[in-house]
Amino acid sequence: MNIDIATLFPEMLENYLSESVVGRARAKNIFTVTCHNIRDYTQDKHRRVDDTPYSERQGMLMQCEPIYNCYKSVTAGKAKPHVIYMSPQGKTLTQKRAKELSQLDSIFILCGHYEGVDSRVIDEIVDEEISVGDYVLTGGELPALVLVDCVVRMLEGTLSQADCYEDESHYNGLLEYPQYTRPEVWHDREVPKVLLSGNHAEIAKWRREEAVKATFVKRPELLESCPLTEKDLAIIHKLEEKEDKK
Ligand code: SAM
Repeated sequence: MNIDIATLFPEMLENYLSESVVGRARAKNIFTVTCHNIRDYTQDKHRRVDDTPYSERQGMLMQCEPIYNCYKSVTAGKAKPHVIYMSPQGKTLTQKRAKELSQLDSIFILCGHYEGVDSRVIDEIVDEEISVGDYVLTGGELPALVLVDCVVRMLEGTLSQADCYEDESHYNGLLEYPQYTRPEVWHDREVPKVLLSGNHAEIAKWRREEAVKATFVKRPELLESCPLTEKDLAIIHKLEEKEDKK
């Protein structure tokens, strides 16, 4: 997969993209990523890329032309990428959407700044707006990193095995079961006995039950859209009965 990111702050991104899981996947060429400074594409002699909004609002807006020039230059002679504008007005990023995006060959991410971006360039080049949550950040750089990290984790070869992410929260609609490591007892709190039993079938059963329980307690609304088995429903029923007795 190839990722291009258009931003006014490429250095902010570079550091993160060179470290840890994402950095290792990049070094192994599992994906390529290039950060493009939109300011390099302005024709203004003072390298300006923003101007005041016509709405008489305070603040500055990023202008169309530098963004458009950047997009045209980066994509010249290549197949059209899927263009994403990181925006608080987009649909909130989900694991499911990130998985779908991980199957694309090429994405181009636009990071806004200031009061945002002149709407005409969004209408001209953007296929999809993605938000990282219902709040407003200063720029699209953190959201772009969130998106890239989430997508890259699901590319083949990034993690040692697919079950590293398939078992994690949100992949199958549930939250992850509680996790434990050594020591077996810490502050009088013991690791559940079943995890020490070596019985793989029992451990798998425990993991599923605990994932259902964790979702019921922490994010019950997720259960409404999650594919559940008869056994899951029985666990939920028991938990509801317990709640009613409280
Ligand atoms: N005036 C815009 C609005 O009310 O919709 C917000 C502009 S925000 C200060 C500047 C930039 O940060 C946006 O153009 C966008 O790229 C990015 N941004 C801010 N919050 C975001 C979020 N929740 N998700 C994705 N991108 C966000």
